[in-house]
Amino acid sequence: MNSATLSLAPSFDLPVMKPLQPAPASREFKNLRREVTEAAIVVLTFDRPDSAANIFDRATLEELNAHLEAIERDATVRGVVLTSAKPGIFIAGADLHALATAPMNALREMVEFGQRVFSRLAALPLPTAAAIHGASLGGGFEVCLACDFRFATPDKATKLGLPEVQLGILPAWGGSTRLPRLIGLPKALDLILAGKTVVAKQALKLGLVDDLVPHEKLLAVTLAKVAKAGLKPHRATPVALLATNNALAGNFINMFTRPKLLTKTRGHYPAVLKALEVITSGVGGSEANSFKLEADAFCQLAQTEAAKNLIRVFFLQERAKKIGFGERAARPQPIERAAVIGAGVMGGGIAQWLAARGVSVLLRDVNTDAVGRGMAGISKLFAEGVKRRTFTDVEARTAMDKISPVVELPSLRRCDVIIEAAVEKMELKKDIFRKLEQLAGPDTILATNTSALSVTELADSLVARERVVGIHFFNPVHRMQLVEVIHTPRTDAEVVRRALKFVQQMGKLPVLVKDSPGFVVNRVLMPYLVEAARLFEMGAEVTDLDEAMLDFGMPMGPLRLVDEVGTDVSLHVAETLASHYHRRMAVPEVLTRLVKNGLLGRKSGEGFYRHQGKEAVVSEEAARFVKDDSAANLDRVELELRMVLLMVNEAARCVEEGIVSGPEDVDFAMIMGAGFAPFRGGPLRHADMVGVANLVRAMNKLVDDGEDRFTPCALLKDLAVNDGKLYPEKGVLL
Ligand code: NAD
Repeated sequence: MNSATLSLAPSFDLPVMKPLQPAPASREFKNLRREVTEAAIVVLTFDRPDSAANIFDRATLEELNAHLEAIERDATVRGVVLTSAKPGIFIAGADLHALATAPMNALREMVEFGQRVFSRLAALPLPTAAAIHGASLGGGFEVCLACDFRFATPDKATKLGLPEVQLGILPAWGGSTRLPRLIGLPKALDLILAGKTVVAKQALKLGLVDDLVPHEKLLAVTLAKVAKAGLKPHRATPVALLATNNALAGNFINMFTRPKLLTKTRGHYPAVLKALEVITSGVGGSEANSFKLEADAFCQLAQTEAAKNLIRVFFLQERAKKIGFGERAARPQPIERAAVIGAGVMGGGIAQWLAARGVSVLLRDVNTDAVGRGMAGISKLFAEGVKRRTFTDVEARTAMDKISPVVELPSLRRCDVIIEAAVEKMELKKDIFRKLEQLAGPDTILATNTSALSVTELADSLVARERVVGIHFFNPVHRMQLVEVIHTPRTDAEVVRRALKFVQQMGKLPVLVKDSPGFVVNRVLMPYLVEAARLFEMGAEVTDLDEAMLDFGMPMGPLRLVDEVGTDVSLHVAETLASHYHRRMAVPEVLTRLVKNGLLGRKSGEGFYRHQGKEAVVSEEAARFVKDDSAANLDRVELELRMVLLMVNEAARCVEEGIVSGPEDVDFAMIMGAGFAPFRGGPLRHADMVGVANLVRAMNKLVDDGEDRFTPCALLKDLAVNDGKLYPEKGVLL
């Protein structure tokens, strides 16, 4: 037993609180404290040692089980409240490491044990409640669903949901059973099938929680509610839910929803379909039957490649939040002041993001019109954020006030970081940096947001070359989590550390890359986009090319993506890369001709497609640039193979050249920066799945046909000889 007495903030105006008495000793508990109020209500406080987060691992489940057993035996207890001692997290979810490495029999045991423990909580003959502040996700929310009442704080940190399908699994500790019984089948499906998490206000509206309570009163109000309830509330399906929570409706909803999901997921996400099946068939029967369906489905899904890859992506995201560089000296100071040079698409987006995270930003452009346009764009971004409830009005205004638009740069000595996001021209950037070097302080990080220019060349034009890095945000800044942090052979290690820390402080996910043309994402993406354009020029249909890659699992077809980015921007990046990588990235004429003819993609209304609002139809104008019909007979599988081979080959080259620390960096960057089919785990994990030797054979065949851009890199060739893998370890997810 943990003997600490629960300490409560003294500022309550609520009557119920009296000093808490420690519960009788039963065993040593590490993750979960049990205390008792004078009103005989047990408070179970989750507090994982040496961690900012609570998670449900085996030990925590066992402790909860033991506490529940003790509560069952104690006739004096009048109620139970679950709470968390962590400042921003209730319970983040189940222990994914255990899940990722458990053998099948252990996995089933883990699922069934969790179900039993939560059912034990649900079956207590006492009123039970969860006092939720911070993230309450997955298993962390399923335990709340097993309580009679749920109260949550309205704070931003409070997020609730069952995001399991995003990891390729489904809620199987009773969540797929209890959520529909609480809020009705349609609403539960809406949440679970999308793996949505909701903020407190939405949670209240949906009926996930009973009320919202300010943090300082949360525990007191929850205790009062439990004390007032007295007896265990009677739990029956509310009348309003009877119409949908039955076998017939479940069947109908399943039949109606399944084809839609299949179209949407193209069959790549088995968890979504399985969750639909379990929830709709479980809702009409007993809870016990539904639990069994949950457990069976969970065990099947956990073995799928999709689940393994999606869980891996989750681990890679967690890793990116913490990565550093070399020996850590003193902890880098947080960034407080920044300057952004260029108030265009990227500069505006970066300034807005930084200001929203409390950084004071000087935003500079060439004239008042240009800065004015930048500020108008930023104001729009904030307004959209307020609409989406990302910010309150006050937060948006406070953040907006943090941005100072300027045309003449003042001294930048107090700036922690300067991010240059002016137009993509080396000479212009060199000019800008020479001025910045004069104005900046001795410790200011000098960063460029260039897409493809050499950061080394830029740095070499300065005296303070050791302070130059690339901090490459993606467009749109507020949506894209990935940031490439690029270091040159001259960059000081401490500057790299500070740049990484800055990106993490801004809530983005960095990948560390050695300077080389195109870094990782554009370098791997470009040969793929260029190949799509080339195949178009060789007579392949726009629809076939795009559909082939949508079928593969990309979020958007390659030619549609070129149109969205702009054929001119794509051409510019392609030409920059072609100047370094020569024949294997040679730019097809169609791109140049589209640009010359003003077919710039969405922004001009036409590119490979004609765009009208959200609609896009294949452009007849672009068809004029088809050169021959040599690819006209390739089917979608062949088209896909060519485009994927080039991505895999370039991704492997990034590893071979050591510009990243390993294959996981490339895979992570491609998933987060280019939307590469996450269920495939990235281009290199995909190569391992399909077999490197098979891919190399396919490349060689194309080379034999005269297509030497498919020449496999040395790393792939070597691996193919011994049937090796890019990820040599077996059975381990990371
Ligand atoms: P943009 O054309 O929208 O904006 C560039 C801005 O820089 C313009 O407002 C221009 O007036 C300003 N500018 C030009 N010279 C300047 C100077 N001397 N001082 C200050 N401002 C100056 O371009 P963008 O799309 O925002 O791209 C900016 C940079 O970010 C480029 O290097 C680009 O390669 C890179 N980038 C772009 C994207 C993207 O998708 N647009 C993505 C990642 C990186």
